[in-house]
Amino acid sequence: MFRKVHLRLALLCAGITIFILFVMSCGYLIVSEQGLKNSGFLSFQSDMNTLIRTLDEQTIITHEWLARTEANGRYLINVVDNGVPFLYNERYSSEQKELFASAWDYYNHTFAAEPAVSASDTFHTEFAFSSAGRGADDYYACVVTSQRHSGTFQIMILCSMEPLLVQIRTQRFLFLLMDLAAFGVLALFSWYFTKRILQPLEENQRRQNQFIASASHELRTPLAVILSCASASGKASEAERQSFLDSIQSEGLRMSRLIEDMLMLTRADRYRWTIQKEPTELDTLLLDTFEAFEPVAKENGIRFLITLPEDAVPSVLCDPERIRQVLAILLHNAFSYTKKGGFVRLLLTHDGKSAKLAVSDTGIGIPDEEKKKIFERFYRADEARSEKGHFGLGLCIAAEIVNAHHGRILVEDTPGGGSTFTVVL
Ligand code: ADP
Repeated sequence: MFRKVHLRLALLCAGITIFILFVMSCGYLIVSEQGLKNSGFLSFQSDMNTLIRTLDEQTIITHEWLARTEANGRYLINVVDNGVPFLYNERYSSEQKELFASAWDYYNHTFAAEPAVSASDTFHTEFAFSSAGRGADDYYACVVTSQRHSGTFQIMILCSMEPLLVQIRTQRFLFLLMDLAAFGVLALFSWYFTKRILQPLEENQRRQNQFIASASHELRTPLAVILSCASASGKASEAERQSFLDSIQSEGLRMSRLIEDMLMLTRADRYRWTIQKEPTELDTLLLDTFEAFEPVAKENGIRFLITLPEDAVPSVLCDPERIRQVLAILLHNAFSYTKKGGFVRLLLTHDGKSAKLAVSDTGIGIPDEEKKKIFERFYRADEARSEKGHFGLGLCIAAEIVNAHHGRILVEDTPGGGSTFTVVL
């Protein structure tokens, strides 16, 4: 499922960014090409102004002057004197003559009907036109009309826009290359970016699936006992029935404890835990817990000790009930994993900035490679060693409570053997 979502998200992300980039590139190209065309036309106009000034100074238009004005083939010049084409026009090829014919056509259609803009004897019109008669303009043209004593004298000067069009085409090609490279980078980036975004979700999903699988597994055992006891109790004697009922009750309690633990973790996942912090005297809290667990220690034949600081312990802002719960989990484990004759110690220290609550035992200990894993849900270091009522959720709940207090929970080896769990608040 995640592969599909990843692919779709990557496509969406890449699609949107590529579309935005494409639109921006097109926008930039349109503006830039327009700017190039405008500046090309302005430069043509300024060239024409200079040319007209020199034309005004000529009394006779000579072939030499026209040839010089052509500027090595940059311009094509067509002269008409009183409606009669100049002999000079004959030097052009037939295609060039056709070009002039269409330029004159365009001029006569578009501008000639208009009254002269200039009141002086000479006026001129610059324009861009398409030699094919349609499509993009590819020539700049200037028509100079001069009223002389001999009559009306007209010169048309054409300048190919080819160099400008080459520049525009090169720019388009470069943009296309850059865009293609950017599309590739964006597609790769989207792929990895969306993968990174989905990773925590995928991990969460994996953990949830694992949680459900483990929870179902843990619930199946007591449920199987309850069902078999219930079916067997029908034909059983009075004494046997009582024993079956006891089993049903104890397995029911086991299930209810497990369900309570699971609900607690689910609430922690949804950030719905209510931590009611209040100034708490940790030494009193530890003493209360110590007293509550003394009978358990006696029952298990384990020596139970408490060590409190000699000076007064400043009160700490925490939820006393939740911290009591953490201590209960740690002590419950310590008594479960420590053999008869061992020690369990409850310890409180503080350094003015933080307080440390430690539960230390001389039990079976935890191998280094297991130390991180024991805080995972349903993790039991050794399934074979686990007793009834140990679902592998206790340390996970303890860690969630400590996290909700922005504290830390650590596990180390007790010198001489066993484990020491420390909660830093
Ligand atoms: P459980 O309910 O199984 O004890 P926990 O989450 O409390 O679950 O502990 C996870 C595992 O960590 C236990 O199954 C056990 O293997 C190991 N463990 C926890 N506390 C101790 C301890 N004091 N000594 C040795 N092993 C421990």
